[in-house]
Amino acid sequence: MTLPPLTPRFAALGEPYSLPIPARPLPDPQLLHLNRPLAAELGLDAAAIADPAFTARMAGNAPWPGFDARASVYAGHQFGQFVPQLGDGRALSIAEISDAVGRPQELQLKGAGPTPYSRHADGRAVLRSSIREYLCSEAMHALGIPTTRALALVGSPQPVRRETMETAAVVCRVAPSFLRFGHFEFWYYRREHERLQPLADHLIAGHFPEFDGDPDRHAKWLTEVVERTARLMAQWQAVGFCHGVMNTDNFSALGLTLDYGPFGFLDAFDPQHICNHTDQGGRYAWDRQPVIGHWNCTKLLQACLPLLGDTPEAAVARAQPIADRYPEAYAAAMTTRWTAKLGLRESRDGDEALINRWLGLLASSKADFTRSWRHLARVRVADEQPDTVAGAGLREEILDLAAFDAWLPDYRARLRAEQSEDRERAARMNAVNPKFVLRNHLAQAAIAQAEAGDASEIARLFTVLAQPFAEQPGHEAYAAEPPPEARHIEVSCSS
Ligand code: AMP
Ligand code: MG
Repeated sequence: MTLPPLTPRFAALGEPYSLPIPARPLPDPQLLHLNRPLAAELGLDAAAIADPAFTARMAGNAPWPGFDARASVYAGHQFGQFVPQLGDGRALSIAEISDAVGRPQELQLKGAGPTPYSRHADGRAVLRSSIREYLCSEAMHALGIPTTRALALVGSPQPVRRETMETAAVVCRVAPSFLRFGHFEFWYYRREHERLQPLADHLIAGHFPEFDGDPDRHAKWLTEVVERTARLMAQWQAVGFCHGVMNTDNFSALGLTLDYGPFGFLDAFDPQHICNHTDQGGRYAWDRQPVIGHWNCTKLLQACLPLLGDTPEAAVARAQPIADRYPEAYAAAMTTRWTAKLGLRESRDGDEALINRWLGLLASSKADFTRSWRHLARVRVADEQPDTVAGAGLREEILDLAAFDAWLPDYRARLRAEQSEDRERAARMNAVNPKFVLRNHLAQAAIAQAEAGDASEIARLFTVLAQPFAEQPGHEAYAAEPPPEARHIEVSCSS
């Protein structure tokens, strides 16, 4: 048995960026799921994961050999309000390693007990929210969307009080770095600006080596984060992912999807959909995600002003064009995504109107977002009879058939204009429009079974979601819209 080599980087920055805090053990830990493909990517061999000590480490019941677990401090804008101190209240970094191909990776336990940043909370995570984070991290990865990963899910009978009594669980999540926008905001608003540069240089040295040592490295890193965040928002929009809590403390300095709480995938298409029951004003509704992504980037840039110039005026002058990269990068990424989702090989004048009319049809019909794109892939260029379009599927999703019958000839004309070939186009569309996403009712079914002692549905969902674009005959039920009684599942910040 060999463990991957330790390469402490963030831990090496030491205090006051993070503090050594041991995990608090959980009674009777059960390994509910292990992500074997990720274990292999990390360089954990079969003997390492079969070792009983491995489960103990995934529960926080045994330390990673040679590494002291640590909690880091950060701040953040939560629902628009600045909160000066947050931090890893229930997450602990348990190892920093080099993976099988030498990339730096950090392993974090979420729900491993209280830390100095727990703010009177218990430091635990419940099974329900842990299953959701575990499955969604890997579902997003399989969709090709940058995200933190999930290595292991451990449950315990330990009671945890939320609205009702639930039980504890721990997710071991993995990312090259868990640094958030809020890590930089913490030192900026405390006016300890001299703390910013070591933090930024740590991030650049480990994760943006192409900028290391460059006098303009901070501006280059920030430009990269802004552009990555803009592209990430386009990727979320394109699959109907709603994050739910887009606070700056939940935004990654590497442009990863981070902190899965009350997230949701669109079922019926409603652009104003609010997935988080706690977000009553709809600050983080689906159609607001791109603008919030930009706002969050401006907060990161503000926190990094001391890195961008010797005078406030010079720093602002340097930061402004970086912030301005966001709308351009987002628009370009979004156009690329919608174009590909419609099966168009290239973007042309007039496509924007075609896309907007299609999205308008889906919205006015409250059509199922995921299924409608798969149906669209079955449209034939030569088929002039609206009734035979895409089998019956697409017409069943659309309510305003007059508008649909007006749109369809224009879509076909556009396809003909680039000599589109039906089978080839369908294959391209089905490679970007997923059949399977982690709908709330699917997660809920796995949660209910696991709470009753049967973790097998977690494994089944994990397997289906690992191939979101494949047809997977026999798994049609996982691609269905929610049954009527499951349409109004409410998820909140409680986790
Ligand atoms: P979240 O809404 O999950 O992103 O959490 C916001 C902040 O609250 C973070 O600093 C978390 O570490 C902290 N937090 C959330 N839940 C708990 C908990 N049960 N125990 C300790 N800290 C928590
Ligand atoms: Mg968070």
